[in-house]
Amino acid sequence: MLTVKPIPAFQDNYIWLLQQDNQDRVVVVDPGDAKPVIAWLEQQDLTLDTILVTHHHQDHTGGLRELIERYSPEVYGPANDAISGIRHHVGEGDECRVLGRRFEVHAVPGHTLDHIAFYAPGTPGLLFAGDTLFSGGCGRLFEGTPAQMRESLTKLDALPDDTLVFAAHEYTLANLAFAAAAEPDNAARDAYRAECQTARDLDRPTLPTTLGRERHINPFLRIDEPSLLTTLRQQGPADNSLEAFTTLRAWKDRF
Ligand SMILES: [Zn+2]
Repeated sequence: MLTVKPIPAFQDNYIWLLQQDNQDRVVVVDPGDAKPVIAWLEQQDLTLDTILVTHHHQDHTGGLRELIERYSPEVYGPANDAISGIRHHVGEGDECRVLGRRFEVHAVPGHTLDHIAFYAPGTPGLLFAGDTLFSGGCGRLFEGTPAQMRESLTKLDALPDDTLVFAAHEYTLANLAFAAAAEPDNAARDAYRAECQTARDLDRPTLPTTLGRERHINPFLRIDEPSLLTTLRQQGPADNSLEAFTTLRAWKDRF
């Protein structure tokens, strides 16, 4: 069985660590900082087999050099020369085999142009979404257009309900505060928000979430909901899905 654990880094990043059964060769996703990863590996007597990278931002790649020097892992990531240390450049439609499990690569531009997501099909499937899909929200558009981000989210939204979504940041409570403003009348979201508040009060992660849940609570996956559209029209144009998405994302930026 593949277990996934969060290694907290910086203010609110999670570096996800994957381990098959009790094997001592493990995987990390988006190691922005080498220190907490090395501390974890040393403490558990593990070694690093593979690194997966979703995009070029420093808080996802800053630990690469030190981890590569120390463990010589396989490194899969976007075909972006700005990231040094990627051994296997992967993009839409590619696959990689990690810890005996098949991972599909999806191109999900929007937050950055090089952003990819890793999805391991299974029961449940595991989605490493980086800064594209968060619980209750989506990534800020630093490089891509709203149309690109919308298409990327639509792609992820096609995965099964039980898919576990491992996002790279603990942004859930802030996202749900915005979601409550965007779509005030959503009982499932209110219940989830209370659950997340309890988790955070106990210093527990709110992640992973599931795609099934996100479809009920995440406004960025609910752009065609009539009540959401009513609120959005007070913020900007929302005559079609893309306009509504663009208005929603811009509103979140200034919220
Ligand atoms: Zn980022």
